[in-house]
Amino acid sequence: GIALTAVERAGDGPLPYLDPSLPVEKRVDDLLARMSLDDKLGQMTQPERRYVTPAEITEHRIGSVLSSGGSAPSPNTPESWADMYDGMQRAALAGPLRVPLMYGVDAVHGHNNVVGATIFPHNIGLGAARDPGLVREIGAATAREMAATGVDWNFAPCVCVVRNDRWGRTYESFGEVPGLPSAMTTMIDGLQGEKLGAGPASVLATAKHYLGDGATQGGDDRGDARISEERLREIHLPPFRAAVRRGVGSVMVSYSSWNGVKMHEHRYLITEVLKGELGFTGFVVSDYNGVDQIDGEPGFTRDEVAKAINAGIDVVMVPEQWKKFVRYLRAEVREGDVPMARIDDANRRILTKKFELGLFEKPMADRRQAAVVGGADHRALARRAVAKSQVLLKNSGDVLPLGATEDKILVAGRSADDIGRQSGGWTITWQGEPGDITPGTSILEGIREVADSDTKVEYSRDGSGIDDSFDAAIAVVGEDPYAEYHGDRTGGLGLDETDVRTIERLQAADVPVIVVLVSGRPLDVAQRLPDWDALVASWLPGTEGAGVADVLFGEIAPTGRLPVTWQADADQQPINRGDGKKPLFPFGYGLTYD
Ligand code: BGC
Repeated sequence: GIALTAVERAGDGPLPYLDPSLPVEKRVDDLLARMSLDDKLGQMTQPERRYVTPAEITEHRIGSVLSSGGSAPSPNTPESWADMYDGMQRAALAGPLRVPLMYGVDAVHGHNNVVGATIFPHNIGLGAARDPGLVREIGAATAREMAATGVDWNFAPCVCVVRNDRWGRTYESFGEVPGLPSAMTTMIDGLQGEKLGAGPASVLATAKHYLGDGATQGGDDRGDARISEERLREIHLPPFRAAVRRGVGSVMVSYSSWNGVKMHEHRYLITEVLKGELGFTGFVVSDYNGVDQIDGEPGFTRDEVAKAINAGIDVVMVPEQWKKFVRYLRAEVREGDVPMARIDDANRRILTKKFELGLFEKPMADRRQAAVVGGADHRALARRAVAKSQVLLKNSGDVLPLGATEDKILVAGRSADDIGRQSGGWTITWQGEPGDITPGTSILEGIREVADSDTKVEYSRDGSGIDDSFDAAIAVVGEDPYAEYHGDRTGGLGLDETDVRTIERLQAADVPVIVVLVSGRPLDVAQRLPDWDALVASWLPGTEGAGVADVLFGEIAPTGRLPVTWQADADQQPINRGDGKKPLFPFGYGLTYD
């Protein structure tokens, strides 16, 4: 049980800030007036779950906790997520002012840290689908799966505009022109609901990473964007403007720099442009250890803390040395280097969102909703999204759709029967991994399900040991899972040699060869394409592989269009520099069936 506060004991009804009938602004004023400096510093501090105990949450009035990618309770089930969340929430509510905490995760394609959740296509596929309404529905489904586990804050959507596909976060982008991520900010409406806190499930969304994360030299993650302010505003700012218009609750700062200055200390861009010019009234959160990286040296300093807070960061994802962070910030405030007004402004922004979310009234996980996690409706929605995201790039002799004339089809390739590969990074673990990592339907299983009962589907992982009595062969190949910076490539973006050999074995069988590419970005296929009869870009479809089969067999005609220009070779990256070189396929390209 939670100890009664002085208020309730007084018997005069709740304190104003605990009274849901008062306007949020009044409640914030009232609460703020009761908070000590330490209460306020706690709200600005975000430890990672592994580095904080419930007792510390109570003692230090911690305002939010995160799970970094893949950091899950054990066992990794919706129930134990809810138990973990409730345990921490109880600890927060045991503080003297009973301020609930927020719990943040990267649910960037569904509630992807939880085994059994529905995994939707990564953003690049949704950019290909070009359907803002569908993206809104995906946001709402993700919010429902999150809410069932208590988690109330999503570090998504990434509204970056990718300009160099060597970047390991290319697939987190909806596309290379500002209009695509801007249009797909409907995900924010889905996640937050019509209004924060209203509707069946509402979680706080985060537009990230502010600003210019997709613009760095060489596509280097955490690198430097050396572009003019005019270009920055023209290409990278519009999705944030759109997100702010939709009332996004928080914005995450990018690790990257703009012309040599780290975004985490960029007062002009954070305070003047985002909060001032764009009128953003939510709060700004740092990236994981982002404050620590301001001076380029490991271990954060008082100076870095002061710079970040004065630049306009409201919540710091510390995530391990949070006690040191609190100590430093307290000292900076006491010595006048960080004005008290800045601390109050940060708290006002954070608390406003907590009140709007309804956390003071409904702080606990909604366990009655547990069945929505990975439920049939959400999987059907994901399958529809997968089908819509397929981009048909080549179809010689109308080899696709399959099914009308083929008696026997061969499926091969490392990505054909592999949920981990088709889901990519940010799935169960941070970087993702191949294999049976969570329940779902592989592309092979989808093909078996969708093919006519009188069509025989054979499978050979590497394409070896086959006779040549097939009518068509499908090679499902692509990239191994990866996430931020591990996925950066400095050289080419070629196919893996294993995949090349698999495809060559199919070619030797002298049947039409259909290549299905499961990758987070365009790969360098120009040299080999003439030998293939069909090419489909499937991106990273997630758990519902049957959506790929729906298109291969013509249950659904392909309508996806390239959200990024497809390079003839990786040396064309960055692809948009306008040097007139001809790409393999232009932005917006995509065929359909007659
Ligand atoms: C990533 C963010 C993510 C954060 C928390 C960082 O490494 O850059 O996108 O939200 O970790 O997991």
